[in-house]
Amino acid sequence: MSSYENLISRGLEWISQFAEDPRGGLTRLAFTEPWMQTQKLIVETMKERDFESFFDEVGNVHVRLEGEVEDTIIIASHIDTVIQGGRLDGQFGVLAGLLVLEKLREKYEKPKYSIEVISMAEEEGSRFPFNFWGSKNIVGAVAREEIEELVDEEGIGFLNGLARVGFDVKKEKEIKKYYKAYCELHIEQGGVLETCEKKIGIVHTIVGQRRYEVFVRGEANHAGTTPMALRRDALDGAARMILGLKDMARTYGDPMVATVGQLDLSPGSSNVVPAKVRFSVDIRHSSEKVLEDFDEQMQFLFEKISREENLELSIVLNEGSLPVPLDASFQQELKKICEDKHIPYLSMVSGAGHDAQNFAPVIPTALLFVPSKGGISHSPMEDTDIEDLVVGAELLENFIYRWAYKGIR
Ligand SMILES: [Zn+2]
Repeated sequence: MSSYENLISRGLEWISQFAEDPRGGLTRLAFTEPWMQTQKLIVETMKERDFESFFDEVGNVHVRLEGEVEDTIIIASHIDTVIQGGRLDGQFGVLAGLLVLEKLREKYEKPKYSIEVISMAEEEGSRFPFNFWGSKNIVGAVAREEIEELVDEEGIGFLNGLARVGFDVKKEKEIKKYYKAYCELHIEQGGVLETCEKKIGIVHTIVGQRRYEVFVRGEANHAGTTPMALRRDALDGAARMILGLKDMARTYGDPMVATVGQLDLSPGSSNVVPAKVRFSVDIRHSSEKVLEDFDEQMQFLFEKISREENLELSIVLNEGSLPVPLDASFQQELKKICEDKHIPYLSMVSGAGHDAQNFAPVIPTALLFVPSKGGISHSPMEDTDIEDLVVGAELLENFIYRWAYKGIR
């Protein structure tokens, strides 16, 4: 049994201890009791092991192995979960970072450059409607006004929720000068690696996304007395639009994805022709150019259908984020390690957002995936074979060793 195998199995139990949800899975929403207990557990345990270990002003936990110089590589992920999340999303990356830090010190002692593991306070946005609290604060990208109005399910304000556990928005509006690089190990949360029978995903781009609301308006009418030819059925149009959208995404091919996750119709009666339909559209791709092109094609298609069906249409773009490319030389370095160690890897996009995307515009950043069984995540069913977790931790160790001890940038 490899030593990482043992350490990861025991470590996952250790880091999960305050978050077990009686309904299944782990629930550890940001700044709640189980969250605070877990962050404190990390601080205390790593202090006992002689690491410099502390909270910052926003709730992230930092564990440092000081090198000969202050220049630092960050290894990070998050410990907050969705409600009834899995045991790997986020916390595996934190655990792997802590294990690698300890292993490197044990094997090679003091590094040339410093290494810092960060257990991010909040990434999921599952308590307050705000993602990436931890990482955005580290790079100085959170304004107080953005969160002032936000409340959780119980009506507790974000600032109040923070204050209750002693945290606030970061004052400094930039990243600390000594942070020179960032690396994150995460589960894939999709089924690509498993399907391709690869053990590691080396992410080249975190996809950009656009979220729309589409409103289709026709005319409500009697389901019995209105012949088919005389209807202005908003659902007929919406259904054609949705199927057309999916066909278009398939025609574009990977990594284009288009999702309609919400659909409401009114008046919503079984004997009335629907007058109004509202549906959501979420599109993602690694190229902004392709997203723009897809956006245009989608508008064209929806307008064409609404004319043919004699309907009114409005499309509202609510949110968007640009694709984030990751550091090319880090990808090369990681590929080289995989080739040397005969690890089957895939260069891929990340269809999900990660803390890495907040660092990539500021410092060289790497994001690594290990496979997710059945592609399942955000569920108590989330799982990865222990052998695959070990491959991830060993690769992380190797990469950090080269950066911090060998000075390979
Ligand atoms: Zn995550």
